[in-house]
Amino acid sequence: MADKKKVIVIGAGFSGIAAATSLAHEGYSVTVLEKNATPGGRARSFSHQGFVFDMGPSWYWMPDVFDKYFEKFGRRTSEYYKLVRLDPSYTVVFGPDDFMALPAGIPALKESFEKLERGSGEKLEEFLKQAAFKYQVGMNELVYKPGRSVSEFLDTKLLLGVLKLDVFQSIRKHIRKFFRHPKIIQIMEFPVLFLGALPENTPALYSLMNYADMTLGTWYPMGGMFKIVEGMVCLAEENGVEFRYNQTVKEIVLEKGRAKGIKTENGYFEADVIVAGADYHHVESSLLPGISQSYTPDYWNKRVMAPSSLIFYLGVNKRLKNLTHHNLFFDEDFGKHAREIYEDPKWPDKPLFYVSVPSKTDRRVAPENCENLFVLIPVAPGLVDTGTIREKYYNLVMERLEKLTGQSIREHVVYKRSYAHANFIEDYNAFKGNAYGLANTLRQTAILKPSLKSRKVKNLFYTGQLTVPGPGVPPSLISGQVVAAEVHKEYS
Ligand SMILES: Cc1cc2nc3c(=O)[nH]c(=O)nc-3n(C[C@H](O)[C@H](O)[C@H](O)COP(=O)(O)OP(=O)(O)OC[C@H]3O[C@@H](n4cnc5c(N)ncnc54)[C@H](O)[C@@H]3O)c2cc1C
Repeated sequence: MADKKKVIVIGAGFSGIAAATSLAHEGYSVTVLEKNATPGGRARSFSHQGFVFDMGPSWYWMPDVFDKYFEKFGRRTSEYYKLVRLDPSYTVVFGPDDFMALPAGIPALKESFEKLERGSGEKLEEFLKQAAFKYQVGMNELVYKPGRSVSEFLDTKLLLGVLKLDVFQSIRKHIRKFFRHPKIIQIMEFPVLFLGALPENTPALYSLMNYADMTLGTWYPMGGMFKIVEGMVCLAEENGVEFRYNQTVKEIVLEKGRAKGIKTENGYFEADVIVAGADYHHVESSLLPGISQSYTPDYWNKRVMAPSSLIFYLGVNKRLKNLTHHNLFFDEDFGKHAREIYEDPKWPDKPLFYVSVPSKTDRRVAPENCENLFVLIPVAPGLVDTGTIREKYYNLVMERLEKLTGQSIREHVVYKRSYAHANFIEDYNAFKGNAYGLANTLRQTAILKPSLKSRKVKNLFYTGQLTVPGPGVPPSLISGQVVAAEVHKEYS
């Protein structure tokens, strides 16, 4: 026990927990220091009088990534939480009385497409066949690469497949080669939004997201997304990880180019290796002196951040009609809203929004005859965030929601909490109040992302949604495992 290497992980988000568990499993002595009182980071949860709200992620995609993670430690996801596949996967609202519920399963989906555009069912099959190859290579090989050198990608199989991977064509163009109907195009482009970038700036490689959406399906862990966090913490503790909450890290203490420990608000922790799972920009700019930072403020200001979000957690004292578990409101111009996020950052005029109603699937997350609503408006990071602005958007979006679903909702809201930039900064030290980290554009992929190893501090590594492979729960889980493998390569 005495000569076990000591690893400190900063942050108990998905990436930090995955890194900690992987290293503890390899025999390291691992402590996680988390500033908040509970684990999960952006995926925390809170309850109020019988309403149980997931604060961040609500889409469970790529179940194979979670399965693979638990199997690595000889466990199964089903030992920790119960998954159900949603059918319909989600509903897209195009306008008044113009809804489309996307069925789970390819045959039914092909039929729905065929109703909109003749021949599109067959085309969907061909599209998904190509996307399956991209998923296979992308999710089983590319995302597990640490992105530290170009040589990692000089593998003959990858080089032979590079054309089929469509790295240099945008997904926008790719989708239009198959489909013409504007509704189908919107449905096919929607998953890219998870990557935090626009379809025109996203490589067609990411049609792997359509494969995840349509072939692998949308799932839900009964009890809520926080069940995944609870399962992962349990697995981590079974492997010997120690979690310390309410430990805000204030400084990484350095000596001769190495980190020797960490100062928190409450104490000092010695370390042989540090893995930072808190936001990369925060760790660099607030926990290290300037001379030990790998990237300059100018570098960070030039990064394309994924959007922030304005969120409302609502408890409603009646059952709601015309809503499914996941609902995308695409009744306004997507191009305009996108420009207000990426090109001319400002509060949007007529935003698109998303509503999740987990109580449609899971009665445990709301009291009897009530509904649990999560309303999210994607917005540019770095905006001025005030109570007045939040309230304006609450009314704007709720009015549309009421009109489009044909019912009064606001007068039945018995609990309301809002969450936006200021909360992301206060709770997670998020750069510009971002919600989903760094966008996955071509210029911010693999070796072009902030490196998972510090260039200045020998034993400092990074993980999470601002480094490889990118934003989202599955990538964060992978990020933790990838960084753990890099640490183990050097310290085993
Ligand atoms: C609103 C929202 C909706 C989302 N929806 C989805 C979805 O549906 N599906 C999906 O796959 N993904 C979704 N995501 C993205 C996904 O949640 C994130 O990519 C993922 O949770 C990021 O994990 P992480 O470990 O990188 O970071 P985090 O979860 O942010 O973890 C970092 C941790 O570090 C801690 N920390 C920060 N500073 C310090 C410090 N100084 N000292 C100690 N600890 C510190 C933070 O408190 C936090 O716990 C969503 C995100 C948000 C915000």
